[in-house]
Amino acid sequence: MATVRRRVFSLLSRTQNFNFNTKSHLTVPLSQPINSKSDDQMLFRILESCKLFPNLRTAVAVHNKIIKHGYVIANMMITSFMEIGETDIAKNVFSAIPARDVITWNSTIGGYVKNGLFKDSIDIFKEMLRKNIEPDGFTFASVVTACARLGALRHAKWVHGLMIEKRIEVNYILSSALVDMYSRCGRIETAKEIFNTAQRTDVSVWNAMINGLALHGLALDAILVFSIMKVENVSPDSVTFVGILTACSHCGFIEEGRKYFNLMQREHSIQPQLEHYGAMVDLLARAGLIEEAYAMIKEMRMEPDVVIWRALLSACRTHKNPELGEVAIKRIKHLESGDYVLLSNIYSSMKKWDSAETVRYTMKKNGVRKCSGKSLVELRGVIHQFKAADRYHPETEAIYRVLDALIHRTRMQGYVSMSDLVFMDISEEEKEENLNYHSEKLALTYAIIKSSPGTEIQISKNLRTCPDCHSWMKIVSQVLNRVITVRDRIRFHRFESGFCTCGDYW
Ligand code: ZN
Ligand code: ZN
Repeated sequence: MATVRRRVFSLLSRTQNFNFNTKSHLTVPLSQPINSKSDDQMLFRILESCKLFPNLRTAVAVHNKIIKHGYVIANMMITSFMEIGETDIAKNVFSAIPARDVITWNSTIGGYVKNGLFKDSIDIFKEMLRKNIEPDGFTFASVVTACARLGALRHAKWVHGLMIEKRIEVNYILSSALVDMYSRCGRIETAKEIFNTAQRTDVSVWNAMINGLALHGLALDAILVFSIMKVENVSPDSVTFVGILTACSHCGFIEEGRKYFNLMQREHSIQPQLEHYGAMVDLLARAGLIEEAYAMIKEMRMEPDVVIWRALLSACRTHKNPELGEVAIKRIKHLESGDYVLLSNIYSSMKKWDSAETVRYTMKKNGVRKCSGKSLVELRGVIHQFKAADRYHPETEAIYRVLDALIHRTRMQGYVSMSDLVFMDISEEEKEENLNYHSEKLALTYAIIKSSPGTEIQISKNLRTCPDCHSWMKIVSQVLNRVITVRDRIRFHRFESGFCTCGDYW
């Protein structure tokens, strides 16, 4: 690190009076040009070093020096700050550049995507178009990924349309991104169409398809695609098996899961990683084979991560196994409210009120904050976000009024609130209220208000959808005769005529 710093400062002390350049994305001085190519390369390497050794102090020091001396190596600065998660500083650098080329825009859009700021990346992309900067394949690769992560179908279609209009050459990176985007936006048929016409020599295109099918719980289709891979002489990699095992897990295909887990190691010499173990533990535990799942965790060659322990904990709730639930919770380092809720629910469902109360008390004592669910819904090209019991939306009054009426109506059709999913020390009424205002219920209600009858509604949620919202959505889909799609953290649920495509297994 010290060497990097010395190199940075020695170089900066040698160079002076850099200025913006309207053409280059690197650095070319206006008032005192750099004469040698080596200086230019040196500057490039400094900023590369910032990427290799992400350190805010160094990056800021370089930034300050550059500003002080009038040097702006804009795109490298943006990339470096984005790499270390300093998106605001990167945006400031971006804003300070008077003439930005496509690479500057790409660095910013791509940086936002890497930092999970998907909505912002799309906003920047729209600004880029307004400024008449022509996007290229790299721009679209980032924007398509942003649309995929947001599950924003309307945006997705718009972006894809732009790609066609601008005759962007669709290479394997863009093909994979498009397959992934349509899968994540609930349009698995469109994803299949793109996959069928894409150049499929690279494994990433197959991975996007298999993982997309897994997300939709289409295990048989995923297995079929996997078998075609062999015919077309494409070797599966580690990601392919994550998709296959996840698909098996979502459908409860225990034997197939075991088969592919062994095949991966035996025939393809791929050693299982955390994700493969995660899918297998989830598959076994959800199917009720909790002891076998625990045995697999103990056999792991690496430290199991929080996802694996949570999969076990979650299954312990479904299959009422407090002993292993306690084992799991002890291994989760940074416990979130959801973990305590799960353990508390295990005890509550077994009517062990004292133990449930102890868990609740521990959670309070440890000052664990509730991790609230967030749901997104895209309406007429605008993305609306809701948190549980959110009252920030400008149309909050109407949303709550319609939601209460809708809950009343669904009760008449047999909906019963699963109040045992909430901690036991509050009254039944309060418990119900908490469940009633989960973020996906608010998002769905707003979509119902804003869309015409019969229109399909699509919601994406950051957490796993809870059993109460799940059973409620099924009844709403029947009562209002609407198709409702919810993409939660794990998979897609498509509610239609009172049923969900997951078959209540998720
Ligand atoms: Zn819920
Ligand atoms: Zn479902």
